[in-house]
Amino acid sequence: MASPFAQLQKILKHEAQDGYRNRIVIGGMGRFADHWYRQARASLKEHDPDLLLLLEAIYADLRRYEAADTEERRRLIEGIEARIQEGLQREREARTSRAAPTASPSAPQPTPSPPAPPAGEPQGEPPTPMPPIQPARAAPARARSRKAPPVSPKLAAKVEAMGLDAPVHLIHGVGRERAQRLARLGAQTIRDLLYLLPRRYVDFRALKPINRLRVGEEVTVIGEVMDIGSKQTGNGLTVIKALLTDGSGVIECTWFNQPYLLDRIQPGQFIVVSGRVDEFLGRPVFRSPEWEPADRELLHTARIVPIYPLTEGLTQRWMRTILKRVVDYWADRIEDPIPSWIREAYGFPDLSTALKQVHFPEDWEPLEQARRRLAFDEVFYLQIGLLEVRRRWRSAPGRALSFDEAALGRAIEALPFPLTGAQQRALAQILADMRSGVPMNRLLQGEVGSGKTVVAALAAYAVFLAGAQSAIMAPTEILAEQHYRTLIALAERWAGAGLPTPTIRLLTSGVTGTERALIYGELAEGTCHLVVGTHALIQEEVNFHDLAFVVIDEQQRFGVLQRAALRGKGYNPHVLVMTATPIPRTLALTLYGDLDLSVLDEMPPGRRPVLTRWLMPEERERAYAFIRRQVEQGRQAYIICPLVEGSDKIEAKAAVEEYERLQREIFPDLRLGLIHGRMKSEEKEAVMNAFARGEIQILVATPVVEVGVDVPNATVILIEGADRFGLAQLHQFRGRVGRSSHQSYCLLLAESPSESAIERLRAIETIYDGFQLAQKDLEMRGPGDFLGTRQSGFPEMRLADLTDLRLLEIAREAAERLAERDPDLQAPEHQHLAEAVTRFWQGPVEPS
Ligand code: ADP
Ligand code: MG
Repeated sequence: MASPFAQLQKILKHEAQDGYRNRIVIGGMGRFADHWYRQARASLKEHDPDLLLLLEAIYADLRRYEAADTEERRRLIEGIEARIQEGLQREREARTSRAAPTASPSAPQPTPSPPAPPAGEPQGEPPTPMPPIQPARAAPARARSRKAPPVSPKLAAKVEAMGLDAPVHLIHGVGRERAQRLARLGAQTIRDLLYLLPRRYVDFRALKPINRLRVGEEVTVIGEVMDIGSKQTGNGLTVIKALLTDGSGVIECTWFNQPYLLDRIQPGQFIVVSGRVDEFLGRPVFRSPEWEPADRELLHTARIVPIYPLTEGLTQRWMRTILKRVVDYWADRIEDPIPSWIREAYGFPDLSTALKQVHFPEDWEPLEQARRRLAFDEVFYLQIGLLEVRRRWRSAPGRALSFDEAALGRAIEALPFPLTGAQQRALAQILADMRSGVPMNRLLQGEVGSGKTVVAALAAYAVFLAGAQSAIMAPTEILAEQHYRTLIALAERWAGAGLPTPTIRLLTSGVTGTERALIYGELAEGTCHLVVGTHALIQEEVNFHDLAFVVIDEQQRFGVLQRAALRGKGYNPHVLVMTATPIPRTLALTLYGDLDLSVLDEMPPGRRPVLTRWLMPEERERAYAFIRRQVEQGRQAYIICPLVEGSDKIEAKAAVEEYERLQREIFPDLRLGLIHGRMKSEEKEAVMNAFARGEIQILVATPVVEVGVDVPNATVILIEGADRFGLAQLHQFRGRVGRSSHQSYCLLLAESPSESAIERLRAIETIYDGFQLAQKDLEMRGPGDFLGTRQSGFPEMRLADLTDLRLLEIAREAAERLAERDPDLQAPEHQHLAEAVTRFWQGPVEPS
């Protein structure tokens, strides 16, 4: 190149003749601009500052060319032409003022090829003849870009054979030691690595001239390294400093403790730098920015850059490089387990596209689609599994029970109240299941106080009439005892009506010795018809003569896997799960997707909403006065002690003190009772019985009474430390009152509630509907906490948002459509899907 100006002049002349259509240089003017500028700079050895300015001005105009319209392009070229004239003039002057043109080399300096990276950094991509940079766009996806997998050649065959199950250490650049670190992130195989998703992304697409940088923004700058050097700080750190210019200005970049950068970044090299603009002595600087040579496919800069989870000994740069390699090669080779008819029906991208976009997104929109697609995969596999559990459950032979319908009808008439419509419907559904010969697996969901117990009791009575046994499992001893009392009272009414009466037993850890042995014997012989207990009942070595019906009460944490395990105990009983937790529909679909649903959406007549008030601490005395008035009218009250962290021993002690204080100072003339978790079963039972009979007027309790307790005459509940409880718990407490036609009240006291506690207290004060509260709770807490998925043995969701009702419904629908076509996933085209579902339900392999 004789003169960069002359060369450019020729090209621009052609471009003008061609009508400014950006067709003259291959790859377009933007790409050419970089190339030209680099060569021009290289030819300019003696750093004539005026010439440098000229070059940079031209370069800036050239870069604007592509985005400009025809008219602007014409003007740009005119402007550049004027500068070219100036440049040519200066060149002539330089030649005449000196005898020999010593400096200007006739050939452009080649860009230095990057030196070998230090050990530990992976080999970068080989320089590719690509445009130096494509702002605002990721490198174009090159389908099946390479012939060999990114492994060392002698391992290639092995990796090909193992495919995605190949261990990560076989990947070129990983090795045994880093494989161990990757395993800590859960990535043992190539497949795991493909699913090792970025935690977040940084948008480095904003490309700016250095003189327009603003402190705090995340940007990308392209420029030439003017100078680079290192310095030791007092405390032994190596600081690398580089000065970068893009013609508009100069910016300093510093890196700490990366001495090898001195070998990798050279003066004269063009690099791309992305990072947050910082400030030093009033000037913008980059501290530890991402950087890479401008002449490669960009990975760390000038794009939406993925940020991966890391563990000790792994760097972002290394992760990105490895993942780029793996994604480039494997994303196109992974079989999409989701049949194309499902993808098309719901508009999901294919797996290969989704994986590429989720790692190296071209833009936010395709990233969002990719994430949605991958989230769909999870809920879809989940739904397939749930439907499968359900089908398997239903395909096993169930007991077809036949019972004396007339006797059952009379048992219903003997109740102290008529059943609500909702109770009748639920009971009819349960009885139909029991008659059908298909094992029942049903969820009975109903607001606190809606009357679930009596439905279960009647179903158990039907089973007794059919000559088989039932078991009712409650989560706490108090509840088991209460159910026992309820059932005994019912049995007395049935006996009074001349109906056959079941033998009912209570089996909790409090029942020991000969009494326990006796019950064991009765259960094995079949002389005990109905047993109530905690869920140790089913785990212990209890043998039933003929168990046909199991009720699980108030067990929102009893996951699908445990329910399935129940069956593995050798029984194949009908199962009824009862919950007062008003699970939003999304979660019911997820958590109980294998269950049929009965809902008690109607309260017994005469119930009035529990008036709820959050009181200031100084209103405590008024609350006591209010309780006293209620008691004087013949009602009863609960006072719930605050949750005490530490042990239930400390909590019990605090409760004892509070009880004594209340009895002595506030209500000396009233009958108070105390119940806490450290009391013996008999003590608790005695207190609860006394409260149920009305002998105790005010029950002081630790949060143990949270669920299920039923004393209809109680009309006030005062909750101390209400800010410490979650919404679901508060709603459960409130459900202890409002169980009759008397107006009931819930009073909340909180010493110094946090902001989120205030939000909860406001919600419980104004929202009475359990479903609305649950939705609110879900929004405030997020699904993981709400579900307690960890405890319930639920598969882990990496991407799926369990509050996304639409996605869950799509997944459910798709799983149902699939089950119609190919329930056992036997079809060859569903082979990959079957494998994916199995993998999902097996969960991630624990790193060894
Ligand atoms: P939960 O659904 O919260 O378990 P329970 O089964 O404890 O509710 O019932 C709450 C109260 O309502 C109990 O005292 C019960 O006797 C009463 N009850 C249940 N059904 C009816 C009804 N149909 N009419 C009137 N009271 C009812
Ligand atoms: Mg209940």
